[in-house]
Amino acid sequence: MNLHEYQAKRLFAEHGVPIPQGQVVTTPKGVREIARELGGRVVVKAQVHTGGRGKAGGVKLAHDPDTAEKQAEAILGMDIKGLTVRKVLIDQQAAGGIAQEIYLAILIDRAARKPMIMASPAGGMDIEQVAEETPEKIFTVHIDTTLGVRSYQTTYLAHAMGFPKELWREFHNIVVGLYACFKGNDASLTEVNPLVLTGEGKLMALDGKMSIDDNSLFRQQRLAEMRDVDEEPVSEREARLAGINFIKLDGNIGCMVNGAGLAMTTMDVVKLFGGEPANFLDIGGGARADQVATAIKLILSDPNVEAVLINIFGGITRGDEVARGILAALELVQTNVPMVVRLAGTNAQEGLEILQGAEMITAVTLSDAAQKAVAAAKGAK
Ligand code: GDP
Ligand code: MN
Repeated sequence: MNLHEYQAKRLFAEHGVPIPQGQVVTTPKGVREIARELGGRVVVKAQVHTGGRGKAGGVKLAHDPDTAEKQAEAILGMDIKGLTVRKVLIDQQAAGGIAQEIYLAILIDRAARKPMIMASPAGGMDIEQVAEETPEKIFTVHIDTTLGVRSYQTTYLAHAMGFPKELWREFHNIVVGLYACFKGNDASLTEVNPLVLTGEGKLMALDGKMSIDDNSLFRQQRLAEMRDVDEEPVSEREARLAGINFIKLDGNIGCMVNGAGLAMTTMDVVKLFGGEPANFLDIGGGARADQVATAIKLILSDPNVEAVLINIFGGITRGDEVARGILAALELVQTNVPMVVRLAGTNAQEGLEILQGAEMITAVTLSDAAQKAVAAAKGAK
């Protein structure tokens, strides 16, 4: 789950990371009022779950409340990478301007199985380009979770950022705070881009991004409540509420599978036979008929889907239950998209019997099923 900039920065502040004073507003009139309270010189920032807002025109400086209101009029309602801006963050401008922008993040390095601090003196809006063209400007150190962030590590990074010695302590405290924030909130990413050195010689987090590990939300009630459902694609929200793991992709073969590993395998086999999966979908173990129905509805709501491949390996999940779900789904959504079904394992035979009469292409092996789905999608063209 991703947080908004304003939410991330508030969490940073709870851990002593300095952030600008600011407030979230949803109307241009409200922006004018807040801009006035903040002294007039503010930044108007679109709050949407995507980077590159600056380049898209979603971050604007204003020197008085009137301009701030006008900027907000332009930004509220704007479309940034398919997301509609519904609120803006009004922040006080960095005092004395910006002398330097650095990139600072803490994330999980899966290969090393450790959290990692990543920093670059070339922070700001072009960080992706920096990573691609001049990777030597990106510095990393791993955190030993039993020791935490050590001062020799932050000294190394502060030096690499080109900070004078007077800033090292302040930088150390920011990294320690950011790590506490990362750990305490079960984050998989906390990112500050830019962390700026202001004209007054202070370090400050001007932007904030945080991703929370969904598996921790049961014990992060406060964060769970920060979820902004407006930022989620409709199909993914519906899947989440039904307890289905669903990720939309760009292909034309909809896949419904039980188990994440089998879902990956199914996608691989579809690709092997020249097809492109339209989605990743794991209905999980012991899926009930109503979940199966929701899953099929989700798959068919994608206009790109030209064939559906259902691959169920029955264990806890029972073939007859899945078959009933398929029939229930077909009653809800009328479709002439061809469907290929492969049921194996627990109650597969019962399942196939239930499906008799429904217009289904059946298959015994996965490669057979995948080939039939690819052929059916081609036939649909
Ligand atoms: P992003 O483009 O989505 O990453 O949005 P950011 O919050 O990083 O803002 C983009 C850019 O706007 C930053 O890199 C800064 O250069 C600039 N910016 C943001 N806040 C301020 C501010 O308070 N003062 C000034 N002068 N520039 C700012
Ligand atoms: Mn940024």
